[in-house]
Amino acid sequence: MKRGFYIGRFQPYHNGHHEVLEHISKEVDEIIIGIGSAQLSHMIDNPFTAGERVLMITRALSSLGCPYYVIPIEDIQRNALWVAHVQSMAPPFDLCYSSNPLVVRLFTEAGVKVQSPAMYERDTLSGTKIRERILNGKPWKKLLPPAVVQVIKEIDGDERLCQIARDD
Ligand code: ATP
Ligand code: MG
Repeated sequence: MKRGFYIGRFQPYHNGHHEVLEHISKEVDEIIIGIGSAQLSHMIDNPFTAGERVLMITRALSSLGCPYYVIPIEDIQRNALWVAHVQSMAPPFDLCYSSNPLVVRLFTEAGVKVQSPAMYERDTLSGTKIRERILNGKPWKKLLPPAVVQVIKEIDGDERLCQIARDD
């Protein structure tokens, strides 16, 4: 039984994350998806709650064909202890998939095998760029799996982001 771990903040879950997870699903028996900064929501850089992000991921991956667990992980503000924190929250795993330099560094120092998947269309498939598009009224729905667009619609997520970005 080979389990792979993949972490992101998923603010929101987009087609880049989705491409990576489809790739990972062919390499492992089970996937653990960590939702980082789980405690944050209703902020310009972190608009969605952990629960809303669970919904986005679960619905988008309904036909993945590989078992997966979605685990919210709160920040601990101590990078040197962060891998142990992750391991205390997630089912045991054999390797970590990440292209984030800090995540790669922390797992490698902790002796966990790391693989860095290729980035897909990073010019547009980026949480930061997608939040900017929502705020600037530019098209963004094609950059997310349809199930995620539906979740954002249900929670009025685009209007939430625009409202919290306004001046008082
Ligand atoms: P943000 O701009 O909010 O940081 P992000 O697009 O970087 O969003 P994260 O939620 O930070 O996404 O998720 C981080 C993980 O997703 C990292 O492992 C990162 O390398 C991967 N990732 C992000 N965008 C892509 C992409 N376009 N293709 C492949 N992997 C991606
Ligand atoms: Mg990022």
